[in-house]
Amino acid sequence: MPYKLELKSYHIPTSIKEACEILGSEENSMPIAGGTGIYIFSNKGIMSNVESVVNLEKLNLSYVKENVGSVKVGAMTKLSDVGKCITKIDMIDQAVLSIPKEVRNVGTVGGQVFTAFPAFDLSVCLLALRGSVNITDGEETNNVRMSEMYSNMFSPNIPKGSIIESVEIPVSSYNKSTYLKFSYTKHGFSDVSMALAVNVKDNYLEDIGISVGGGALDSHPIRLNEIEDELKRKHFEAELVEKGVEMILKNENIKFYTDHKSSSDYRKKLLGTLFRRGITELMGVENYGR
Ligand SMILES: Cc1cc2nc3c(=O)[nH]c(=O)nc-3n(C[C@H](O)[C@H](O)[C@H](O)COP(=O)(O)OP(=O)(O)OC[C@H]3O[C@@H](n4cnc5c(N)ncnc54)[C@H](O)[C@@H]3O)c2cc1C
Repeated sequence: MPYKLELKSYHIPTSIKEACEILGSEENSMPIAGGTGIYIFSNKGIMSNVESVVNLEKLNLSYVKENVGSVKVGAMTKLSDVGKCITKIDMIDQAVLSIPKEVRNVGTVGGQVFTAFPAFDLSVCLLALRGSVNITDGEETNNVRMSEMYSNMFSPNIPKGSIIESVEIPVSSYNKSTYLKFSYTKHGFSDVSMALAVNVKDNYLEDIGISVGGGALDSHPIRLNEIEDELKRKHFEAELVEKGVEMILKNENIKFYTDHKSSSDYRKKLLGTLFRRGITELMGVENYGR
């Protein structure tokens, strides 16, 4: 793959500690995992200051471990290896299968989560599912919630000299989920997307997780906490759907940009439609046809 990087050094350490020491001591250094994100962003000139690259392939970080109530996925696990058969969560399968085959077979979970790009589908799901990220400097490991990972695009909450070791996905918080993605081409990034998870019993909406992604979003993926609070712990009825749509349309934190393809307002309306479709599908009721 042609990268636009002017490198002075390239390291392939064999322990996490060694990798973190190199990253901490060399000023303009960064890890490389599958290299698919680096391919995109280096070609856009975003990584022009990088002089040293640390390859993570020999750190034994490709694994999936089932714990009680959660699944732990190593940072170097390929996106194609994180599916429903492992997590038993529908939205993860839908999100991963929407990523082009040649990318999901090479790109990794850690590379995806680090980048904080709002159109990266698995990250949107991890946010809705209340996932978390284990960050290590080779000696200590901190668990950071996905909701605390991002403040800006390309600026995850990871100190220099640390790497993502794994992500933790809770598997019992919700009993149904779906991922809805709108993109202009089958092979493209999402323009607007939504991850929706519910814990529902006998039509009672005990809990709900909603997050929004999409390349047209003017930030990192975001979680819709206020809308969740409004909808949860209620018996499900048609008015709740319309309440959710209305709150999405009025939500000032959801900022899409306007371009030649669509206006920001149109994209927000599209998000409302994704919500309506998703929630009615999960609750097993008729879509209200709008
Ligand atoms: C043509 C194309 C189409 C794509 N379409 C989609 C799509 O539809 N949906 C989607 O979700 N994604 C899509 N992607 C993006 C893809 O999912 C990401 O590029 C991929 O997940 C990044 O993983 P990677 O292992 O290749 O990361 P890399 O490219 O190796 O790294 C990306 C960034 O993460 C950092 N990094 C990597 N691993 C770690 C770690 N363990 N700890 C700390 N930092 C780390 C690197 O330093 C770098 O800054 C597409 C990519 C391409 C090239």
